[in-house]
Formats: sequence, structure tokens, C-alpha cells
Amino acid sequence: MTTLSTDVLVIGGGATGAGVAWDAALRGFDVVLADRGDLATGTSGRFHGLVHSGGRYAVKDPDAAKECAHENGIIRRVASACVEDTGGFFVTTPFDDPEYADRFAKGCSDTGVPCEEIDPAQARREEPRLNPGVSRAFRVPDASVDTWLLVWALAQGARAHGARVLPYHEAITIHREGDHVRGAGLRNNLTGEQVDVEARITVSASGAWAGRVAEMAGIEGVHVLPGRGIMIAMNHRLVNTVVNRCQMPTDGDIIVPIRTVSVIGTTDVHTDDPDDHTVLQNEVDAMLDDGEKLVPGFKQARALRVWTGVRPLFEDRKGGDSGPTRDVTRAHALLDHRERDGVDGFVTITGGKLTTYRLMAQDTVDAVCRQLGEDRRCTTDSEPLPGSESGEYLHINDRLRRREETLQDDQLVCECELIPRSRLEDSARRRGSFDLDDMRRQLRLGMGPCQGGFCIYRATGILHGLDGIDSAEASSVLESFLRERWKGVWPILYGDQVRQARLDDWIFQGVLDVSHLPT
Ligand SMILES: Cc1cc2nc3c(=O)[nH]c(=O)nc-3n(C[C@H](O)[C@H](O)[C@H](O)COP(=O)(O)OP(=O)(O)OC[C@H]3O[C@@H](n4cnc5c(N)ncnc54)[C@H](O)[C@@H]3O)c2cc1C
Repeated sequence: MTTLSTDVLVIGGGATGAGVAWDAALRGFDVVLADRGDLATGTSGRFHGLVHSGGRYAVKDPDAAKECAHENGIIRRVASACVEDTGGFFVTTPFDDPEYADRFAKGCSDTGVPCEEIDPAQARREEPRLNPGVSRAFRVPDASVDTWLLVWALAQGARAHGARVLPYHEAITIHREGDHVRGAGLRNNLTGEQVDVEARITVSASGAWAGRVAEMAGIEGVHVLPGRGIMIAMNHRLVNTVVNRCQMPTDGDIIVPIRTVSVIGTTDVHTDDPDDHTVLQNEVDAMLDDGEKLVPGFKQARALRVWTGVRPLFEDRKGGDSGPTRDVTRAHALLDHRERDGVDGFVTITGGKLTTYRLMAQDTVDAVCRQLGEDRRCTTDSEPLPGSESGEYLHINDRLRRREETLQDDQLVCECELIPRSRLEDSARRRGSFDLDDMRRQLRLGMGPCQGGFCIYRATGILHGLDGIDSAEASSVLESFLRERWKGVWPILYGDQVRQARLDDWIFQGVLDVSHLPT
């Protein structure tokens, strides 16, 4: 058993927890950040990828709209290297209530969401695939974000200020003495080792799991209503601007262009289990039909992958049934358990959106300061994250440009995402992880049209050659990657992607016989 001592223990390494770690470390606190899995494998790694302008909430949830509008401006500045400045359109399609457009324009003006009405013909000139029946169009500053870049930049920034970052460390007990929480017991989910963390204050930033973590601390009534949503990635950029339907928020009404793909989403179905990743065929079919309404011909593109995420929607109530989750506020909830439950040394932050992670972190660390009786100023609204110092946005051509500089010297491992061998090797050495799914998130390995068909056996061979893993482990990481990928592929198999899946199957079963590798 290892024992660590720290000022602030953060449980949960999504955008919120990593944001809290960065904020607290910048304010000079000693920090330990722990997640039960790799960083950003909860909702922050399973969301739609949109930095909201606030437009989506302008009519329905004005407070959420104001927060998004404010934070959008800050994220663009401090995390520019993780953000693609796609801009956004809200468009009235023939399927939308034409009256909503005026309410939308007024809502934006009332909440400070920058919004300009443009000629629909101009919107179609910029996005030629848009439904030709669009009758109104508004331009807003929506953007897309590479969540793994963001969360890892937050963690690296925290680390540079002394924080210890512990992926694969699950909080299994919260140490409570009387009315005081004094840290937590963690289990390393890779090795089984126990780590005891003594902390002056413990922050639960565990999103949809916050109720469970609060229960470990003996605190009741922290109700997080998990709202499950699906998203589907199409094989290329059908649009280069985030395109929203101008209507009350509903299912399948936004397409987000992000890196090499465009993503349609989403749904919102109540579930009791934050680990519920069920994908229903009727949801997939409805989502693809919804894509057609914004971009006719949508279904003719190849659907690469479907995944689900679970919204952490907070409702502070003791017992009772949960209603439809789309009507619960998207605002965040900060629970200072000293004020709420008379329990010192424990704070919960949940709800909200990825767009508001920084504000959530700021409110949380302010509460930490109050509990510890220390006045330390937040600087995350002006301090750029590592990699974002130049203020330059992420650009779709970045990888191609870098690739052209090393065309002759560096072997390409993944053609779809232009990943050179040196990046794969660097990443494995830096992380000390040979898990191909960890590599996927970090590098986008296997995220293109072949879904790993061509790059994953190469990557496995390269990692094996690095002496980090023996052949049995190499076979096992390969098999586990393929199993994981298949979960997101089979519910959307149609058209060309069926042929791709068949080819992948021939490669892995027919040529490599992966089911019978020595493990
Ligand atoms: C379908 C969908 C689409 C969305 N789209 C958008 C969007 O486009 N834009 C936007 O701004 N927001 C969007 N959101 C909302 C946004 O994704 C979430 O609000 C945000 O990612 C939550 O971040 P978080 O860090 O609070 O939670 P999470 O990212 O879920 O992090 C919580 C972490 O806690 C960890 N954890 C749980 N229990 C333990 C334990 N016992 N010990 C250690 N670790 C533990 C989990 O592994 C997890 O990594 C979307 C949400 C969904 C579901």
C-alpha cells in the first residue's frame, strides 16, 4: 500500500476534474488527480465535440446560454490549440417551425450570444450540402473541440505545476472521520495495488457517477440523472461549419465537423446506469434520417462508428421518480458539503457541459479556498494551456502539413489519420502505456474509415518491437482493441462500411487468425 499526502484530491479525470486540477495547481495547491480509467474516458470522451456558442440554449435555458457565450470566448483564447474555429449556423429547414427563428434571434440578443442573420443563399454558398429548402440562417461562434487534446493539456499543465496525475486509479473508499472527509482509498485498476491518499480536501468531479462517490462518503440525496445520448461519425467532413437546426433542442439536430469526420447527434434517454452504453437500432435509424433533414444525401456517406455518452444531469432531491431528462437544467451544480450536509473537506461538482468546464472548475476551487480559509485568485481565464500559447487554432490541415515535412523520413502507420511511426513510439514511451485504445484517444489511431483494419496490426508489431511488451501481451492488446472497435461498428453496418468490415475480418481472422494467437 502506497500513501500519498496532498492538499486537494480530485476524483474524476474528465474535463471538469482535469480543469479543477489545473486551476488548483495554478493557485499553488498540491494536487492529486485520479480516474478509474484513462483520462477522458467518461462523458468527456464520449460527447458531441461542440464548444457551444450558447445558441442552443438561447430560448430554453437563458442562464446556460449566457454561461456558454462567456466561456466560449475564454476557451477559444486559453485552449486554442484544442479548438477548431468552425463557426456555426442555425438554419430553419422545411421540417422546422418557422416562428422559432424570431424567438431564437431575440433569445440570442437577450443572453449575449453573438448572432447575425445571413441570407440563406450565403449559408448555402459556404455549405453547399445544406438543405436547399433552408429559409432562415443565423451565424454564431460555435466551434469544435478535440476533447482528448483538451483534457491532456489540462493534466499536463497541472503536472507542470506539481500535480500527480493517476489514470486507472479508482476511488473505492472515501475516508470519513466524523464530519470530516480526509481523503480516499484508490485501487490501481491495472495492477490491483492500493493507494491511500490523505487530502486536506477531496473534490468529486465524477460526473454521472457523482451520486455513487457521494454515497461512499455517506452523503445522500446527490441525484444525478444519467441521460444517454448516441452520436454517429460519418467518414468525412460533410460540412465544415457546425450546423444546428433552428428549433427547440431535440434529437439529431446538430452536425459537428471535427478533425477528419462529421458527427451527428444526439438523443437523450433516461437510464439508471451511468455505464449504460446500449445502442438501439431505431435510435441509429432515426439519427441517420435526421441527418438527411440538414444535409440531403447524408446517409450515402459511410457511417464509421456509433457511440454513446451519459449526461450528468443533476437534480437535488431526496428520492422520487426521474422524469424525461431533456427538461432538467444543463447548468452545473456545486455542492459544498460543509454547507449542505455539515461534512467538512468534501465538495461535489457535477452537471454542466464540457463548454463550461473552466467555470465549473473555478467555482469548485473557490469553494475549496473557502473551506480551507485561503484566498487564492483564479487565473485560468487568462493562462493559456500548454500548447495554446501562440493562440493559434487547431486546423484540419495541420497533420497533412506536418506530414509533408517528414514525407521521406518517417514511416506512416495510420493512413486515415496520418500518424507517423515516430509519434506512435513517442506516445508509448511517454505514457508507458501499450494499450492500443489509450493510443487511439491520444493519436486518433484507428479512428478513420478502416477503423484500425490497416494500422492496428502494424501498430501492435511496432509496440512489440519497442521491447515494452512480449508477444502474449501484444496479442492481447490487439484482440482487446478489435473487440472494443467492433462495439461501435456493428450497429451501423451498411453500404461500403459492410465491405470494409468484411475486409478487416479477412485480414484479422483470415490472415492473422487473431482468435488463436498465443496469449
Ligand atoms: C451525448 C452527449 C453529447 C454531449 N455534447 C456536448 C457538446 O457538444 N458540448 C458540450 O459542451 N457538452 C456536451 N455534453 C455534455 C458534456 O459532455 C459533459 O457535461 C461533460 O463531458 C462532463 O464532464 P465531467 O468531467 O464532469 O464528467 P466525465 O467526463 O464523465 O468525468 C467523470 C470521470 O469520473 C470518473 N470516475 C467515476 N467514478 C470514479 C471513481 N470511483 N474513481 C475515480 N474516477 C471515477 C469517470 O471514469 C470519468 O472519467 C454532451 C453529453 C452527452 C452525454
